[in-house]
Amino acid sequence: MLQLHKHELSCPVCRARQPWQATCRRCEADLQLYVKALRSLHSAQRQVAAAHNSGDEAKCQATERYLTWLQPQTDLDTST
Ligand SMILES: [Zn+2]
Repeated sequence: MLQLHKHELSCPVCRARQPWQATCRRCEADLQLYVKALRSLHSAQRQVAAAHNSGDEAKCQATERYLTWLQPQTDLDTST
């Protein structure tokens, strides 16, 4: 599972590390949708843990399916 640094991200354009904010501090890329997706991912990870701890397997599986759908690809080839 993707491990998120709480409230810190790497810009998908220039890789600058920074707090979760709407615009990249270095390249000024618009990160609003990226931050929204990170928040949703973070929330879903907490929901999976809570569902697992409470023994709610149906909710756990449903949230894990959402996480699988939402998880950003990490193997993008940027060498071209
Ligand atoms: Zn950037």
